[in-house]
Amino acid sequence: MRAKGVVILGATGSIGRNALDVISRFPRRFRVVALCAGSNAGELAALSRRHRPAVACLSQGNIADLRKGLPRGTRALAGEEGMMEAVCAADTDIVLAAASGVSSIRPVISAAERGKRIALANKELLVMAGKFVTSAARRGGAEILPVDSEHSAVFQAIDGHPRESVRRVILTASGGPFRTCTLARMRTATVGEALGHPTWKMGAKISVDSATLMNKGLEVIEACWLFGFTPDRIDVLIHPRSVVHSMVEFRDGSILAQMGIPDMRIPIAYALSYPSRLPLELPRLPLHRIRDFGFDAPDRKRFPALPLAYAAAEAGGTAPAVLNGANEEAVRAFLAGRIGFTDIVRVVDRVVSGWSEPLAARRLEDVMRANESARRLTREKISRRGRPLPS
Ligand code: MG
Repeated sequence: MRAKGVVILGATGSIGRNALDVISRFPRRFRVVALCAGSNAGELAALSRRHRPAVACLSQGNIADLRKGLPRGTRALAGEEGMMEAVCAADTDIVLAAASGVSSIRPVISAAERGKRIALANKELLVMAGKFVTSAARRGGAEILPVDSEHSAVFQAIDGHPRESVRRVILTASGGPFRTCTLARMRTATVGEALGHPTWKMGAKISVDSATLMNKGLEVIEACWLFGFTPDRIDVLIHPRSVVHSMVEFRDGSILAQMGIPDMRIPIAYALSYPSRLPLELPRLPLHRIRDFGFDAPDRKRFPALPLAYAAAEAGGTAPAVLNGANEEAVRAFLAGRIGFTDIVRVVDRVVSGWSEPLAARRLEDVMRANESARRLTREKISRRGRPLPS
């Protein structure tokens, strides 16, 4: 069996590094064809020296800096074109889409059109452009395998079952660091507190999204595209222990749950090796120590991101791109200390509810444009108000 060629988009991020850890333990199954990163030339060069890909690609940074640090035999590429070349190469079998933002959208669509397996970690791609990514995969006969832990859980529970036998999908959420806080307390939450995710170690943006539950809202939209369900078939359940990564309820009343330790290497490995499972030597889930699972319904009043995301999922078209763009800018302003924690979703709500442009998404450009103008509008709203927003 030939080792599968893997391209990692977002190699220097936490998913990228975890993926490299998995890949380096199974050199006969996988080989790194290309590593792509945003602007961190030094880190990308260091990873390239360790993993020896044929290509290292920097989507935004200085390619001269990258070239200096690359080992012999690794070619430097740049920009969207470079990513495109790497993902479409004949020896690329799997594209791990873990770059943040939407810089990789066109390369991922092209890879799907060529039938490459897409291991999808970047939820924005489906949130914003689910229609275009999934139709490209259909055209090219490509599989899209979720890396997001919840969606990997659903994928594992649903696999082999006919779609019509599913009653609903249940995405679990840790509830974030403010799960038990009052709204008044949440208003004064600091950046440090918002970044203190109880179970998963993640980047700043997604940690804040987990604290507002916007991450779960985006995951609802992601699940709609991955599994082909309408938003009313997708529920969210708070589960602070993060033992059950998600569940599927079938029409006969059976519920299948996927459990495990919270370690992203498990869903990453499964997306790479599906349908086989790799012998990952990780700590095991201490089931005998789990006294109760502790499920709870989410509080939509304290976490208004959730109903906002459901509304965007129902509206369809460019609505999720508007939501996502507004949220990115609001989170950025919060991390920069310019708005308060509860202002994040308040600003997003104002942008979304004041949106007057048409929602039809006929072409990929329509969602990109909507996302851009939502970002612009959000920045304007924030700079006009300064901090803090009046309640
Ligand atoms: Mg997740």
